[in-house]
Amino acid sequence: MQETQRSADVLSEEGSNSAKRRIMSGMRPTGRLHIGHLFGALGQWAQFCKTDEAFFEVADLHALTTAFEHPEQIRHNVVELVLDWLAAGVDPARSAIYVQSHVPEISRLQVLLSMIVPVAWLQRVPTFKDQIEQLGGEIATYGFLGYPLMQLCDIAIVRANTVPVGKDQLSHLEFGREVVRRFNHLYGPTLVEPHGTLSEFPDVDGTDGRKMHKSYGNTIDIADDDRTTEKKVRSMVTDPQKIRRNDPGRPEICPVFSLHELVNGPRVPWIEEHCRSGALGCVDCKSELAERLNASLRPVRERRASLDAAQVDEILADGAQKVRAIAVETLADVQTAMKI
Ligand code: SF4
Repeated sequence: MQETQRSADVLSEEGSNSAKRRIMSGMRPTGRLHIGHLFGALGQWAQFCKTDEAFFEVADLHALTTAFEHPEQIRHNVVELVLDWLAAGVDPARSAIYVQSHVPEISRLQVLLSMIVPVAWLQRVPTFKDQIEQLGGEIATYGFLGYPLMQLCDIAIVRANTVPVGKDQLSHLEFGREVVRRFNHLYGPTLVEPHGTLSEFPDVDGTDGRKMHKSYGNTIDIADDDRTTEKKVRSMVTDPQKIRRNDPGRPEICPVFSLHELVNGPRVPWIEEHCRSGALGCVDCKSELAERLNASLRPVRERRASLDAAQVDEILADGAQKVRAIAVETLADVQTAMKI
């Protein structure tokens, strides 16, 4: 009950409902994006560009919290990530797209706010506890412990009032809001308390039937070509009880069917019926899916292929300039409030 109330508070009023929202979101540059991102977060981001003031950050410092031993891929991944964003319709003319480390005010704000954050607040953020349990303390670094504070600084530096969050990230946001309240209580109203706008997307099934996730090696990537997509779709698992072509299948447990639901709208009832009756074989079902996926991804892929790294550099330089115009002021206000 207490948890429910807290979630409602985090998601409440001005942030999610005000006419003019300032939205901040980001992703870590850890590799190519897949269709789960495209049909989930990126679709929403493209929409934010039309309706809100939007800031999209490539969180390269966050990537270092877990990839500090292998940083050589990060720069390359930054470019790949931005190409995926642009291809998906994120509009750099109607948003700010920037790299976290190009805005040094974020790190400086983190140092200042770290002075007022009790270590216990960071230790109790559930994702920290989970990671430590899962990884046996392998990444129990100072930087990793401070991850949620850096996230708050990403948001606070641009004075964003709205943050798209999944249910599992509400505790991060609540931590950030507590830090803002503590700061404003100690030094006077200076920082904006961000609210969440819930962005729950259904998980997209990967080729092996588990949730599509880079670390499982089961993704269909935005940047894949048609043949790679066909190959991946052909390799997908299906209903294990449908062994011969005429065996009746169970679409509700088949990842191929769940991807049909994403991209093959009007044909879905027909596929469901003919899978169940055994009239549709998995080979044909997969061929149709590969065709539909490639058709719906074609404009995105063509847009991606028409862009080059030089454009990305320009976009990122422009984005950093837009953000720093706000960030310098926020930092100055924080320093004034803290009398340094
Ligand atoms: S016919 Fe299609 S939906 Fe049915 S089990 Fe085979 S691949 Fe899955």
